[in-house]
Amino acid sequence: MTPAVPTQLSFGEKLNVLAHNMWWSWHPDVVSIFRDLNRVRWRQLDQNPVLLLSEYTPEQLENRGREAVLHSRVNYAFRRWQEYMGDSSTTWGATHAGVLCHKPVAYFSAEFGIHESLPNYSGGLGVLAGDHLKSASDLGVPLVAIGLFYHEGYFSQLIDEKGWQQEVYSHVKNTQLPIRLATLPNGDPLIVKVDTRHNPIYAQAWQVDVGRVKLYLLDVNIEQNSPEDRKLTARLYGGDQRTRIRQEIVLGLGGARVLTALGYQPHVIHMNEGHSAFAPLEFIRMRMANDSLSFDDALRETASMCCFTTHTPVPAGHDRFDWGMIDEHLGPMGDQLGIGTQGLMGLGRIDPNNHNEPFCMTVIAFKCSRRANGVSNLHGVVSRRMWASLWPWRSEEDVPIGHITNGVHVGSWLAPQMRTLYDRTLKEGWWRRTADPNTWAAFEHVTPGELWETHQALKNGLITFSRQRSITRAERLKFPATEVAEIQNLLDPEVLTIGFARRFAPYKRADLVLRDIEMFRQIIADSKRPIQFIFAGKSHPADNGGKSILQRIYNLTQEAEFKGKVLLLEDYDINLARHLVQGVDVWLNNPRRPLEASGTSGQKVVLNGGLNCSILDGWWAEAFDGSNGFGIGSGTCHSNQDILDERDAKDLMKTLLNEVIPLYYDRDNDDLPQAWIKRMKRSIRTLGWRFNSDRMVMDYVQSAYLPAAGGVSCEMNRRA
Ligand SMILES: *Cc1c(COP(=O)(O)O)cnc(C)c1O
Repeated sequence: MTPAVPTQLSFGEKLNVLAHNMWWSWHPDVVSIFRDLNRVRWRQLDQNPVLLLSEYTPEQLENRGREAVLHSRVNYAFRRWQEYMGDSSTTWGATHAGVLCHKPVAYFSAEFGIHESLPNYSGGLGVLAGDHLKSASDLGVPLVAIGLFYHEGYFSQLIDEKGWQQEVYSHVKNTQLPIRLATLPNGDPLIVKVDTRHNPIYAQAWQVDVGRVKLYLLDVNIEQNSPEDRKLTARLYGGDQRTRIRQEIVLGLGGARVLTALGYQPHVIHMNEGHSAFAPLEFIRMRMANDSLSFDDALRETASMCCFTTHTPVPAGHDRFDWGMIDEHLGPMGDQLGIGTQGLMGLGRIDPNNHNEPFCMTVIAFKCSRRANGVSNLHGVVSRRMWASLWPWRSEEDVPIGHITNGVHVGSWLAPQMRTLYDRTLKEGWWRRTADPNTWAAFEHVTPGELWETHQALKNGLITFSRQRSITRAERLKFPATEVAEIQNLLDPEVLTIGFARRFAPYKRADLVLRDIEMFRQIIADSKRPIQFIFAGKSHPADNGGKSILQRIYNLTQEAEFKGKVLLLEDYDINLARHLVQGVDVWLNNPRRPLEASGTSGQKVVLNGGLNCSILDGWWAEAFDGSNGFGIGSGTCHSNQDILDERDAKDLMKTLLNEVIPLYYDRDNDDLPQAWIKRMKRSIRTLGWRFNSDRMVMDYVQSAYLPAAGGVSCEMNRRA
């Protein structure tokens, strides 16, 4: 694991090494080095050290380093990085996941959200995958990751004068990213090939270092491919069905071949959602070829090393393909496996003999994995019901789908100021034991005033950031100078601030709080106990329903009585998410239960002292204890959508009016909301240790990876 770095490196060379491992992004003192290095204070440079460094010649860099007095900080950061990379013998993984050492976990995902400078994600699934890699790295769990490289990424969102979403794609410049082309051990370029009935598709792979973890992103934009095929991996979730299945054979079959070419022999295959569910076919093929196994035996052996995490409780959210699509793209594989297209179709159908049933990625993922899980307790229940027909001989409770609740990476989402408070309050080395409740218990002793002031400072930061982003848009749209000037007064740091930011998928109901618009007017207009809202979120390009909700909110923000009090920020990404989750008082989450499989943004808010106000769905259904945040409603569902929305909207208003607003404005003589602060402390203390990604990765190791690696045939434990 020791990186091959010569001992005597120059200042600039050390910076380059740091910039080329995403480790820098979750270490605030390294983040601040790059910020201080940035003389022009151009935001994009702050966020992308590789781009920043490319702006300097070595001499300029050296001079800038002296000017900003950065040399000893860089030396210290570099030493810490070397220690981190060099010694994994004392990690949690060395003690608990040793068997994976030479045969690591192969983690497949269609998106990875590691940092805003690498636009390889669209939302929660990608950010979760990014956090998984970071925790695997911190814990020393041997893991190698596979994804796709989208050279146009996911879109940036602009909101036009009419409040309608516009999508902008930019061509990602490979030289401005912390990536390098993967090569074969002998130095030759690595190219893998995936056959279809018509023409093969070729892919190269980019390597991204995420701490100790290596991530390989397959890229088909190379000269070996036809002009159409070169665009296959241009955009995340872009294109039609045919694009989708071609992306998925590249990810699954191509990804497995990249691992083989690089000499990896994984012990465990982890499929994060069904997009990569073709991967097991390649491992089955290899077992048949190398060990002369029959298809059935190879399938059984491969399945015993495969784990599958399902994320989608919405039936339409699962990829489905018809016979023609499967035959064109998997036909050659079916022939090699000796099962033909007919046999392949059977693997993707609940009933193999039902010729009317399309091929479903989730079904093949279940059939090729011995272990499967949903992403929260409630989602486990929903998934067992949803997929019970795959195991018709079992009762619903015995359907072999467990759950591992999602978590977030503490180092990435905790604000530096809040981290300083943690450092003062918790035991030395707390960040190495974030999954232990004892680590967090000491938070009880934090001084209320100190916690509140830290929170207020972060809230001020969010408000400044929100004004800047609003000004950027106003200037782009050439708003009159008077209007731009007005933006300087948007939002008031003394006012209860509620954040709502997520993908604008209709089931998330961004406009639920507006359902009773008169009531909304009243709570905004209340001069004694006012509230203000910040909204943000992207709608899928093809989702006009989501875009209409966005527009409705935008139109409200333009009405006189809401101006400066209800805000819609454009281009929700990891950067905006970080500011929001670190600065809001309350994080609102009101999906249609039980459609939010887990949700993770509220977990990021917890770490920073914000309070969740949420429907009892996803992670919140198992997290809320009555006094560590706020619950909306009583956790029931309804098959009639309109009745459900009406009831939830009423419950939401009730919670805001009867609980949230009074508690926030109940102040002592020092103007401190003591009962509120108590709830902040309780939220951090009771939730921080459970809903972080160290705990999540440890759970995966213990209930999925180790049993899969040991060939132990027990099913995943279910923890209610
Ligand atoms: C955390 C995060 C999400 C996921 O949030 P949900 O609560 O699951 O909606 C989506 N997008 C970004 C940019 C995030 O940081």
